Amino acid sequence: MKTKLAIRLASVVGVLAIVLSSTMLLAADTPTPTTQSEAGGIWLVGDHHMHTRSSDGSHYVTYDIEHSTDYGLDFITVTNHGGQANQPLIDEEYDIIEALRKQNPDLLIFHGFEWNVPSGEHATFLVIPSASENDRAQVNEFMSLYDQSLNPEANTEEKAIEALEYAEQMNPQPIIIINHPSRKGKYSTSEIRAYAEAGDVAIGFEGAPGHQANPDRGSYPAEEPGSSRTYGGYDKMTAEVGGLWDTLLDEGIRWFITANSDFHTHFTEGGDDFWPGQYTKMYVFASEKSYRAIAEGIAAGKVFTVSGDLIDKLDFTASNGNAQAMMGETLLGRSGDDVKVTIRVHDPNGLNNNYDNPALKQVQLISNASGDPEIVRVFTSADWQRDGEDLVMTHTFNDVGGDFYLRVRGSNTEELNPSEDPYGESAWNDLWFYSNPIFIEVD
Ligand SMILES: [Zn+2]
Repeated sequence: MKTKLAIRLASVVGVLAIVLSSTMLLAADTPTPTTQSEAGGIWLVGDHHMHTRSSDGSHYVTYDIEHSTDYGLDFITVTNHGGQANQPLIDEEYDIIEALRKQNPDLLIFHGFEWNVPSGEHATFLVIPSASENDRAQVNEFMSLYDQSLNPEANTEEKAIEALEYAEQMNPQPIIIINHPSRKGKYSTSEIRAYAEAGDVAIGFEGAPGHQANPDRGSYPAEEPGSSRTYGGYDKMTAEVGGLWDTLLDEGIRWFITANSDFHTHFTEGGDDFWPGQYTKMYVFASEKSYRAIAEGIAAGKVFTVSGDLIDKLDFTASNGNAQAMMGETLLGRSGDDVKVTIRVHDPNGLNNNYDNPALKQVQLISNASGDPEIVRVFTSADWQRDGEDLVMTHTFNDVGGDFYLRVRGSNTEELNPSEDPYGESAWNDLWFYSNPIFIEVD
């Protein structure tokens, strides 16, 4: 990252840019750019966090997997809770999962476990399957050494960092994603920053928690000090502009968001959950449909998340005329560049899994280009242009003078900032999508 001075210089330019680009948008027809996502790979849809009877889920893994295929998912992840009682069951389940992979060649089934992080929250420990017999042994070894429930004496942040450094040495490296970060108020900015800086394996946190059918959305009752309810179904760390996530991005830290079902028990069976993919989807840009390519896409932040199938496509790119970057990537350029942002979304015409056809009301561009993270621009139907079935929006930051980042979100509501979700709210009425950031770095 550049110094704060450079960012402050950029801020002056940024304000001008907003005015200029608004005028430009009115004046000119937006060309149709070919984005990277139409060339170098495919978007796949999946879930990185669900449970079965090997811990506290209601169903055997075979049953869950049959239902996961109902909602158009390309991949799911079986992540039962770490701990003494569960460890042998998780181990046994690996054999079943291997058989299920052969029976369901179109559905990629990751396994792993939900790590009880020392002094922290739960985390998805996602394993990239390889041909090595050592995979399972090394995951079991990690769990034995670092799952907090098995090592109650080592309940410290230092132990969590040691675990991340240990995981960094594993081959293949796992992916670690912090689950429901604001549920119990366990995290400060410095603790998440320390995770992000402890190597490559901790890549981000849930932007939106699972358990969206719980009357306290996300099962976030906010009963503990420092905990929070959800905002538009998203965790406050992600939903609050200038909140914890933006603080890290503003420092140039690559920290990404995801979303998942945290499926245990369906709401029609008395549980808190929608089936994987029924309400929440995570779209991942992958070079091909394989375990490794999906994992690489997640780790690189080439991910957007959406609830209620509000959108089913997001091409979000930034270009300086010489190069182009998508979500998770860094656009390298020079001071004085004009950086053009293109947001192309598709709002599907069909019914979602609540038999609604929610309409996208707004798309927001969020950036720290002018100093502090803020909503730079709100696009509505008055601003976006139709290109076939897609809605296209552009915005240009002229004559940039420092490093910054960009991210977008949108909703079927007109709320500028999502309000705190009240008890009993229907998740289907308050839908949002969130992108991951694009970073801009200039010499
Ligand atoms: Zn879970």
